[in-house]
Amino acid sequence: MSVIAENIGSIKAKIAKVNAHTQLIAVSKNHDASSVRAAIAAGQTLFGENRVQEATAKFTQIKAEFPSIKLHLIGPLQTNKVKDALKLFDVIETLDREKLAREFAKHNAQQEFFIQVNIGNEPQKAGIAPEAAIDFFKHCTADLKLNVTGLMCIPPVDENPEPFFESLKSINTKLGTHSLKLSMGMSADYELAAAQGADFVRIGTAIFGERNS
Ligand SMILES: *Cc1c(COP(=O)(O)O)cnc(C)c1O
Repeated sequence: MSVIAENIGSIKAKIAKVNAHTQLIAVSKNHDASSVRAAIAAGQTLFGENRVQEATAKFTQIKAEFPSIKLHLIGPLQTNKVKDALKLFDVIETLDREKLAREFAKHNAQQEFFIQVNIGNEPQKAGIAPEAAIDFFKHCTADLKLNVTGLMCIPPVDENPEPFFESLKSINTKLGTHSLKLSMGMSADYELAAAQGADFVRIGTAIFGERNS
């Protein structure tokens, strides 16, 4: 068995212990197609990439070969890349601003969208402020007719992520009957995120090893 297959197996086992509903997204940025193929051989179907160009080069052929693969965009997107992103990605997790939402609406995008929430209110980080997330959701769905199905966050580094996972959850609770899927948790904190109710964890390093960027 490959190291990648072993890693996926042990991560899935750890997740399953705390939350039977949490799905694993394998984040393959900065790793090549052969790593992706090793993950597919281990049964992995959900993948995450940060950049449209890198993902297009890596996944166009692979998606043609394996129609069950779903690709999530988890990196920031410039509006001039929207068209290319829509050709490849199944889920856009980084709906993080009004201008981008309008651009997707203009292209009549049928993808699933997750709203990226700047859960630590960090000035350098992308995302909708937590207190504005519900209004933004209403705007995207009612006015722009986007199929918003999730909330995504990246907590501040070097802090306990738990209160930030809690606060993403509390935004979702306020949405009541409109409640969404939660994408939260990475290599360092995925068990915690799964225990707190994550529907998706996004894991790169713990599957594929360190990235040489
Ligand atoms: C790179 C990245 C990940 C994966 O990070 P690891 O720590 O390598 O697991 C998850 N989410 C986002 C948004 C990322 O950019």
